[in-house]
Amino acid sequence: MLIAKVIVDVPTSQTNHSFDYLIPDHLTELVKEGVRVSVPFGPRKVMGFVIGIADQSEFNKLRPVDQVLDMTPVLTPELLELGKWLADQTVSFYIQAYQAMLPQVLKAKYKKEIESLTEDPLPYGLDKLFAGRAVIDFDEFVEREGNYRDLLKSIHEGIVQINYMVQSKETVKKVAFIEPDKELYLLEEALIDLPKNAQKQRVILEYFLNDPLPVQKSKLIQQCNTTASTIKALIDKGLLKSVEKKLYRNPYNDDSFERTTSLPLSSQQKQAITPIWQSIDENMNDVFLLHGVTGSGKTEVYLQAIEKVLEKGKEAIVLVPEIALTPQMVRRFKGRFGGDVAVLHSALSPGEKFDEWTRIHKKEVRVVVGARSAIFAPFENLGIIIIDEEHETSYKQEEQPRYHAREVAKYRGEFHHCPVVLGSATPLLESFARAKKGVYQLLEMPDRMNEQEMPPVEIVDMREELHQGNRSMFSRRLLEAVKLRIEKKEQVVLFLNRRGYSTFVMCRECGDVMKCPACDIALTFHKSSHQLKCHYCDFHIPMVRNCPTCESDQIRYFGTGTQKVEEALREAVPEARIVRMDVDTTRRKGAHEKLLNQFQEKKADILLGTQMIAKGLDFEDVTLVGVLAVDAMLNLPDFRSSEKTFQLLTQVSGRAGRHKLPGEVILQTYSKEHYAIELASQYNYEQFFLQEMQMRKNFHYPPYFFLTLINVSHPNQLKAMEVTKTISRLLYKHLSDSVTILGPTPSPIERINNRYRYQCMIKYRDEPDQRKVIRKILRHYYDEIQKNDLTIQVDFEPYQLM
Ligand code: ADP
Ligand code: ZN
Ligand code: ZN
Repeated sequence: MLIAKVIVDVPTSQTNHSFDYLIPDHLTELVKEGVRVSVPFGPRKVMGFVIGIADQSEFNKLRPVDQVLDMTPVLTPELLELGKWLADQTVSFYIQAYQAMLPQVLKAKYKKEIESLTEDPLPYGLDKLFAGRAVIDFDEFVEREGNYRDLLKSIHEGIVQINYMVQSKETVKKVAFIEPDKELYLLEEALIDLPKNAQKQRVILEYFLNDPLPVQKSKLIQQCNTTASTIKALIDKGLLKSVEKKLYRNPYNDDSFERTTSLPLSSQQKQAITPIWQSIDENMNDVFLLHGVTGSGKTEVYLQAIEKVLEKGKEAIVLVPEIALTPQMVRRFKGRFGGDVAVLHSALSPGEKFDEWTRIHKKEVRVVVGARSAIFAPFENLGIIIIDEEHETSYKQEEQPRYHAREVAKYRGEFHHCPVVLGSATPLLESFARAKKGVYQLLEMPDRMNEQEMPPVEIVDMREELHQGNRSMFSRRLLEAVKLRIEKKEQVVLFLNRRGYSTFVMCRECGDVMKCPACDIALTFHKSSHQLKCHYCDFHIPMVRNCPTCESDQIRYFGTGTQKVEEALREAVPEARIVRMDVDTTRRKGAHEKLLNQFQEKKADILLGTQMIAKGLDFEDVTLVGVLAVDAMLNLPDFRSSEKTFQLLTQVSGRAGRHKLPGEVILQTYSKEHYAIELASQYNYEQFFLQEMQMRKNFHYPPYFFLTLINVSHPNQLKAMEVTKTISRLLYKHLSDSVTILGPTPSPIERINNRYRYQCMIKYRDEPDQRKVIRKILRHYYDEIQKNDLTIQVDFEPYQLM
C-alpha cells in the first residue's frame, strides 16, 4: 500500500512535520499531493494536507487515511513548496502557511454534495446510489461505500460535480426583475397606441420586443437610460410586471462593466512598458520598480502588460492594497478583461471569496485582482505579477505566517520565470535603494497624463496660529478655503491621521518634540509612571513641565479622533454637509461604498476621514485637500514615520484637482521645517530619498541594517519582562558579535486585553543562523506557550512596531 505524507491541522511545534498514513485501496486514485484529507490523530479526526506520496515508511503500525476532502488538489506542487519556504522564512508552522494560501471555507470541513449534471442514467454504480435524485449528500456516498473511482471518472467526464455547501445568507440577494406581463403581440399593439410624447415608455417596450426575457430592474434602467417611474407606468398599465428573484452570488456583475480597449501609450508609458514586454517575451524573472507620480498612467501600463501576457496564453496576478480595491479600480480591470478577471477582496463574504477562488482554480479566469492573499492564486502558468502601491504596509500580514506579499511575488516570479512589477509614486525606501543599486530595474514616469502640474501645497504653521490667538484645530486659512469651496459648490477632502494610540509630547509654542537621543524616535508619555520612554531602547526621563528648548508651558500630548473633528467642523462651518469615514463609520459591510457614493453624488461637501480616504479615490469636483495634523504621524514611535508621512502627504495631495478644475492642498503642522513635510510639499521624492537614507545610515536602520522584532506577552507583567530579558540574553549568546539587541522595553502599546507586552529588537546586517536560533528559543518555551498563556511573536523585517 502507498503512504501519504500529511501535514495535520494541529499547529504546535511538536507536530510541525509530516505524518505517515496508509492509503486504503479504494482511495489510491484520489489521494494525491495537494489534496486535503481527514486522518485519525490520537482519539480524533483532523484535517490535513497531503504533501507527498511514498511507497514505504520508516514507521510501522500506520493508520489509514479516513477520507479525501477534495476531488482535485487544492494546492499545486508549486504552492506546496512555497508553503514550506514560507513557514521557514517566517518561523511558522507548515499548517499555518498552507491555510494562509486558501480561502477560509477550505480551512474547515464543509458539507459537500454530489450533483448529477446529466439527464441520462449515470454510469457505473453511481446510478443506483442516486436512485433518480439529481443531488445526494457526499456523506451518503461515503456511508453507502460509493465507489471513488467511478466518482472521479464521472467528474472528469463532466457528468457529475461536487458542490461545497457554503452557507452565507447575506449573499443570496433577492432582486427585482422586470418582464412582460402580456403576450408580445399585445405589447406591440400597446407600442403603436402610445402617445407621441411617451418616448421613454416606447424605449422600454422596444427593448422587450427585442428581448422578452426577464431583466434585472437596475440593468433595464441603465440600458434604456430610463427611470423607475417610467417602468412603473408600464407596470400600472399591465404591460410589464416585477418579480423578485434570487440572485446567485456574483459580487461583480461582469455585464455591468463598460468594455474598454488599450489606449495609445504616451511616450513615457512606452518607455516604461518596453522592457516589461521584453521580459514577458523572453520569460525573464526581472523585478521592475515602476516609479510614476500619481496620474502618470501606471494602471494603463499594467493593463497593457497583462494583455501581452494573455496573448502568450499565460496568467496574471495584480495586487492592490485592500483599501484601494475600490469599485473604480475593479472597473478598470473588468472593463479591459471582462469575465477573465476574478476579484479577491476581504469585504467579500466567505462564500463569495470561495466562488472567486474556484473560478481561478478551475482556470475559468486568467487575471486575478486582489488584496494581499491573492498572491497565492493557484495559477500554474503565471506570466506577470504586479504589485500596485508597493510601499503599502497592508502587503505585510500581521499574523502568522507574517509574510510580505512582495517576497512571495519574487519567489513565484522566479518559479515561473516571469517579471514582477512593483509600482508606486512613493516607493518604499528599501525598494528604491535596491533599484538604485540595480537589483531592481528602475522605470520612471515623472509626468502626469493630463499634463497638469501637481496641485500647489501650502503649509500652515500652527504655532503661528496659536501666537495669533487661534486655539482651534482649524487654521484661519483652511476655514476660509473650505468656505470658498462650499460657496462655489466644489468639494473638499479633509484628512486626519488615525487617532494616536499613545501620545508623544510636543511644545505647541516652538514645535519641539521630545526624542530619544540614541534612536531618533519620539518619546512616549506613560501616565502611570509619569515618564517619557523610548520604545526601541530603554531610555527614559521624567515627564517635563516646560519645553526644554523654549521653556514654554504649552507642552501637550497629542491625538484627536475624527469624531471630535467632525463636531468642531460642524460648529465652524454649519452650512457644510459632512461625510465622516473612519473605522467607526465603515464597520458594516457596504458602508464604505455607501459613504463614498454619497460624496460622489455630491450629497456632501466635505469628506472627512482617516487613512482610508487617502488613496485610489478619484472625484471630479474635489478642489481642496486639507491635512489637519501631520504631526501625529510624523511622531509615531516608528523609524519609518518620516517616510510614512511623506507617502501619505503625496498621496493625499494627489486627490486634489485630478480633472479639469485646479486643486489646492493645505497642510497644517507644528513642524514646518521638517524635511518630510517640506519635500512632500514640493513633490521631491528623490531629495527625500537621499535625506532619509542619511538618517537611516546614521541611526542604523533599514535598508542599511535589518530588524527582527520579538514581542512577548503575558497576563503577568513581571513574567512578560523576565521572558523578554531571557530571550535577549539568549540572542546575544547565540547570534554573532555584530548584532545589536535593543531592549527589552515595554511595547508602544503596553497592554492589550489585560496582557502585558514587552519587546526586543535585533538589528543586524547578516545573520544566517538567526532563524535556527529563534526556533530553538521558541521550542525552549514550548510548554509555557501551551500551558501558561505565554505568547512570543517573531516578526522579521517588521512594518508595525507597536
Ligand atoms: P496612475 O495609476 O499612475 O495614478 P492612471 O492610470 O490612473 O495613473 O492614469 C491617470 C489618467 O490618465 C486616467 O484617467 C487614465 O485613464 C488616463 N490615461 C492613462 N494612460 C492613458 C493613455 N495612454 N492615453 C490617454 N489617457 C490615459
Ligand atoms: Zn518649546
Ligand atoms: Zn532609544
